[in-house]
Amino acid sequence: MSERCYRCGSVNVRAINAEISFALGTADPVYALGRPIVCLDCGFAECSLSEEPLRKLKESIQVRGPIDAHRGATLKCIA
Ligand SMILES: [Zn+2]
Repeated sequence: MSERCYRCGSVNVRAINAEISFALGTADPVYALGRPIVCLDCGFAECSLSEEPLRKLKESIQVRGPIDAHRGATLKCIA
């Protein structure tokens, strides 16, 4: 595997099967299956969402608004 961690530059990264839920306030959570790349040195993870969960997430944000989008974020997903 030739990927490097965007945060720390480590080559100790792996693709790991995951189920991710995105919960915005009191809105119903949006679930997505994916295979994020996880850095086993610093914990940084990146993933892309497929079309359906991305659409649901956009709808949820449009209802709630983007004000709290970055507060307390511990998982970054890079498309
Ligand atoms: Zn890292």
